[in-house]
Amino acid sequence: MSLRTVNNERKSAASSRPRSPPTRGFDTFDTNFQKGVTDWQLRQLAALNWIDSIFNVIMIGPPGTGKTHIALAIGNKALDCGYKVFFASMDSLVHILKTQEISRASSARLKWIKECQLLIIDEMGYLPVSKVEANLFFQLISSLYENTSVVITSNKGFDGWADIIGDSVLTTALLDRLTHRCQVLSFTGDGWRVAHREVIFEDSNQ
Ligand code: ADP
Ligand code: MG
Repeated sequence: MSLRTVNNERKSAASSRPRSPPTRGFDTFDTNFQKGVTDWQLRQLAALNWIDSIFNVIMIGPPGTGKTHIALAIGNKALDCGYKVFFASMDSLVHILKTQEISRASSARLKWIKECQLLIIDEMGYLPVSKVEANLFFQLISSLYENTSVVITSNKGFDGWADIIGDSVLTTALLDRLTHRCQVLSFTGDGWRVAHREVIFEDSNQ
């Protein structure tokens, strides 16, 4: 699945949607399969009031457990409701931060991120960040603090974040800001892809 950033320089809301299959909505999420999130919690998330109250949402869990699905569902619903949203993988966000001085596209994106009501950061933790990148990320989160809701998905629990950030003091300061007003959701179990693996050949005997 492509995790392109919402291209917010485009004019229409429709074209600024995260590029994803249309099935990544709240209604297609199976809470019987994913026990870490209840229907009630999904309804609370889908109501989006937490964006107005500037709460954050951090979704933690193993790969394939539906974190990105819910992040996209939130992003799409928020766009439908007229919120300004930016969706980026951690990797592409770090790229934007690192190239803000030399790339007009990056500085424009960063300007937009700061105007958004919702920043969604997908896949924090798959790739480690350098010290410079960690500092830039911390500065961004600090500048958004109490202004912008942040949604983060991560395959690592908070205990593992120091390894991603590479600095325990910075990680503590980062978590301090992110978790002050925050809902943490722990996704559990086997990944959906493993349980619903599709094959080309139905019968290997033929
Ligand atoms: P993660 O981000 O946690 O690695 P994804 O959200 O990318 O996982 O989920 C992998 C695939 O499985 C996606 O196609 C997603 O739509 C689907 N999926 C995962 N969990 C569920 C669920 N509980 N109900 C419906 N689809 C799911
Ligand atoms: Mg994911």
